[in-house]
Amino acid sequence: MSELKDYILADMSKEELERLVFDFQNLIEIGISLSSNLEFSSLVESILYICIGQMLVDKVAMFLHVNLDNEDLNLYMERGFNINQEWKIPEKSAMLQYFYKKSDIIVGDIIEELMGEDEETAELFSILKPEIVIPLFSKNALNGLIFMSRKIMETPYTAKDILFLEKLSKFASIAVENSRLYRMATIDRMTGLFIHHYFKERLAEELKRAERNKKDLTLLMLDIDHFKRVNDTYGHLNGDTVLKIIASIIHQNIRVFDMASRYGGEEFAVILTDTDEELGLKIAERLRAKVEEADFDLNGTKIKVTISIGVAQFNPEVDDSADSIIARADMALYQAKNTGRNRVCCNSKDCRSK
Ligand code: GH3
Ligand code: MG
Ligand code: MG
Repeated sequence: MSELKDYILADMSKEELERLVFDFQNLIEIGISLSSNLEFSSLVESILYICIGQMLVDKVAMFLHVNLDNEDLNLYMERGFNINQEWKIPEKSAMLQYFYKKSDIIVGDIIEELMGEDEETAELFSILKPEIVIPLFSKNALNGLIFMSRKIMETPYTAKDILFLEKLSKFASIAVENSRLYRMATIDRMTGLFIHHYFKERLAEELKRAERNKKDLTLLMLDIDHFKRVNDTYGHLNGDTVLKIIASIIHQNIRVFDMASRYGGEEFAVILTDTDEELGLKIAERLRAKVEEADFDLNGTKIKVTISIGVAQFNPEVDDSADSIIARADMALYQAKNTGRNRVCCNSKDCRSK
């Protein structure tokens, strides 16, 4: 594919014209699908699959700028290479220094020359053996790199392929940047969980969906026990460490389609979709037990922390809003606090607790 102005349309056969229209339509479809996808990992996955499908390659990897403290690029996702190790391309490597000056796609021997200059990238080269490297630029900043293997048919990348990839990289970098900004606006930086405002929006949507599809939904409200004491005894920074550890325990012990958020300072909320009260209680109990079992290492001092959890199952006849189910889960949480803490209570007639 080339710029439309590069074609002398009158000289082209009907097949060539059809092919040209098809290519442009294809690119428009790709642009629309990428720009409508804000969920970061599924966006990156779609970009990788577009590369695989359009270029007929079986190995693609995307390195992205994930750490806000430096300019290194980290391996974010790959398909076909089967790498089970974390990799990074350091900011100071010849490879990145090259892309800071030039923004073009590189193909063939120049990749080995650049990557061979630094130990870390040289080792990476021996694993990836990339045939083509595509930079992702947004507002003149390098956001990422896509590495692609040789084509399955072993044919070289053509000038038309490169032009297609240049256009794809423009769509991909804008989409990646939008998704990154969206993430920053919806995710709490300290815990990596969703922020309060976004949680409320999502809860309202999920309640509507549950009612429409006649599905269960259960909400958990979690609060750290005697957290003020932790802060008073070990300091606010150690308190922050406790918050981060609890957030990661929550994150690791729920399903990917459940949604955990930092509801307030030391309070968390979890939306469990397709989950009734009984299963919700089990999940809450597992979270409670995981926190109780964990050793919280505060700069060498190991402490124990517990949480209390309130559980409420969505009842369309009672809950006319997100606030209603939140209030019911909160009441259960209050009950857990009042009956000794480190326990799970639920807001229903046959409420059970630890
Ligand atoms: P309870 O068992 O009844 O929940 O007691 P508690 O001490 O946890 O409850 P309280 O509401 O009295 O205290 C909550 C504390 O959480 C007070 C506040 O300073 C602390 N906190 C809230 N947000 C943060 C935060 O971001 N970092 C740290 N370190 N502390 C926080
Ligand atoms: Mg609290
Ligand atoms: Mg508390």
